[in-house]
Amino acid sequence: MNRRLQNALVRAQERRHALAADEIAALLALTDPDDLAALHRAAYAVKVRHIGKQVSLRGIIEMGNVCAKNCFYCGIRAGNGAVSRFQLDEQTVLRAARRNLELGYGSLVLQSGEIESEAHTAFIERLLHQITALSDGAQGITLSLGEQSRETYARWRAAGAHRYLLRIETSSHELYTRLHPADHRFDRRVDCLRSLRDCGYQVGSGVMIGLPGQTVDHLAADVLFFRDHDLDMIGMGPYLPHPDTPLGRERAFTPGDAARQLRLGLNMIAVTRLFLHDTNIAATTALQALADDGREQGLLAGANVIMPNVTDTEYRSRYQLYANKPCLDENAAQCRTCLAGRIAVIGETILWNQRGDSPHFFARTAGSPGKRDLTDTAVDNA
Ligand code: SAH
Ligand code: SF4
Repeated sequence: MNRRLQNALVRAQERRHALAADEIAALLALTDPDDLAALHRAAYAVKVRHIGKQVSLRGIIEMGNVCAKNCFYCGIRAGNGAVSRFQLDEQTVLRAARRNLELGYGSLVLQSGEIESEAHTAFIERLLHQITALSDGAQGITLSLGEQSRETYARWRAAGAHRYLLRIETSSHELYTRLHPADHRFDRRVDCLRSLRDCGYQVGSGVMIGLPGQTVDHLAADVLFFRDHDLDMIGMGPYLPHPDTPLGRERAFTPGDAARQLRLGLNMIAVTRLFLHDTNIAATTALQALADDGREQGLLAGANVIMPNVTDTEYRSRYQLYANKPCLDENAAQCRTCLAGRIAVIGETILWNQRGDSPHFFARTAGSPGKRDLTDTAVDNA
């Protein structure tokens, strides 16, 4: 690593938002093992300062694979006739939510394909009331249900959801257009992020990493997008081809690609931690699809959230956004034991039975001082 990048690493640890776009791109492009170790070590130090050696969990419930959209990369896109569609009923989702509570995960995520209808909005609303009642609101609830109207977001917020994850997928308007049909609009996705913030959610977004045609400059712009939208949570992971999609058919994966995708994914986590400091960052399951210990590597590169699957195993294989999804046949109890062991090995502690809200959300809403330090405040006011 040259002297300029070494200085950039030191500066980024001291102050958030302290990297230039070309420095971010250069850090993302690192490949030398010693350089990677230095980058990840620096990011980990920032995580420990703002969050601790702690991991928050959210059990993810994959509620259904019915989707009205046709994103070119996604295995459950409407145009994929090879998928057998399912939608969990109220009782099945509630059973998973209760299981999540009993497992001590503290928060859950409801995710599905995108459906915009009054019937669906009302279904989610009813569910939210019931899930909130299970724990008197103690269990955190994140939604990941795609683009919706501001009114729908407001109704779900009022019914008990308090976090929302909507990935921008890529902050490049041009690349977004190449990855989606013409009626999928980048601007609407950005508008949705604004609506979510206005409705009072903790707002999460993120991108896919290593997309065909995506450069480190695109990824550097993504990191700046995270700052500009003042996000509370980042959920991003490597792009993994699905054979029954237009993008997956265009270009399959080679073993060399997997190593590159993993490295880029980890570098994005590290650089994002170094740049944003106090956001929640997930080590997503896609990392685990590339390496058995991919999520632990993510934690050691600066992530602090893991999302174990709590969906009934019989439905998991029908919710494959990408190929080779891990843990298809491990039930939730097995996942818990496996995860607890893995986290202990890397010397971190799981925050059992805690919501694990984003320190950045509290900092930006002045809800609590969080763990921001005075150096950060000075930069904000500058
Ligand atoms: N329908 C909702 C939520 C489910 S999709 C939405 O689109 O927001 C959740 C995420 O899966 C997407 O945001 C996308 O980033 C990711 N995803 C889809 N296909 C993928 C693939 N082939 N590789 C990696 N991630 C993928
Ligand atoms: Fe549907 Fe989300 Fe997949 Fe796009 S990424 S096809 S919206 S499930």
